[in-house]
Amino acid sequence: MSITQVSSLSDDIRRLLKRYDVRPKKKRGQSFLNSQSVARNIVDLANLSERDDVLEIGGGFGALTRWIAERAQQVYVIELDPRLANALRDALKDFINVTIIVGDALKIDLPNVNKIVANLPYSISSEITFRILRELNFEEAILTYQKEFAKRLVANPGTPEYSRLTINVQYYAEVEEILEVPANRFYPIPVVDSMVVRMIPRRKGVFAKDSIVFHWMIEGIYPYPKKTLRGALRIWFRNLRVNKGLADEVLKNLDGVLSGDERLRSIGLEGLVSLADVLLMLIENGSIEDPRV
Ligand code: SAM
Repeated sequence: MSITQVSSLSDDIRRLLKRYDVRPKKKRGQSFLNSQSVARNIVDLANLSERDDVLEIGGGFGALTRWIAERAQQVYVIELDPRLANALRDALKDFINVTIIVGDALKIDLPNVNKIVANLPYSISSEITFRILRELNFEEAILTYQKEFAKRLVANPGTPEYSRLTINVQYYAEVEEILEVPANRFYPIPVVDSMVVRMIPRRKGVFAKDSIVFHWMIEGIYPYPKKTLRGALRIWFRNLRVNKGLADEVLKNLDGVLSGDERLRSIGLEGLVSLADVLLMLIENGSIEDPRV
């Protein structure tokens, strides 16, 4: 697309902002797609059919909503900003399969859907991702994030992007990058590029015997990703006021799955699940206080 075309679509958004008296706020992630073809490409990635019920988070001026509504059975679009919700009502008035929900996607009840498509407000990327993963029983989501954030979602063990976020998300879902969207496809132009990812809830592979213990452990050890496993366990146990010698006991029970000398950042999901299961055993035999009570 030429620079003139991009700027004329940005002019359309400027006009809409004026008409609906919206002053875009960064802290609400208010940058709007200025490219119809990118909007259509993103929605194409969801392979929608008339059997699909779709949730969109952050409708804005409806750049994605229109394409979703043309293909899906039902669309629920959540928008926090009442002025944008007015704009959405006008833009989508010809569709009978669109329900506009005005509210905060982090707080309101989420509808039952099998697919999710959204250019997410970046300010709530983490929180909304965990909310949909924990609360919705969906088949597939096509989600746009800031590129750096997306890189952390898909990271492999041993890379600098592999982090607490990576593990907590990959525990629930398989994630792949599918489409890069340059910053200038949005207006106002954000400081960084975006990346669309496909997220599919994971049904295969290892799961901890107790997911609460797994996440409690990740919160406890992952502030120290550059430490060895033994070092991170010791710091965490000291913080918990548990005998730090228990770190050796944990490693002994891991039966060679992990030695303790590996850097935390290099340990994959399987190793971490084994670790959580050993911790569960030590909780159950009373060596560690139960975090679930
Ligand atoms: N989907 C539109 C597009 O692609 O042009 C807008 C995307 S824009 C990145 C994010 C949208 O999310 C904005 O319209 C913003 O008002 C809305 N939003 C921000 N925080 C929200 C929240 N907590 N709940 C629901 N919507 C929110």
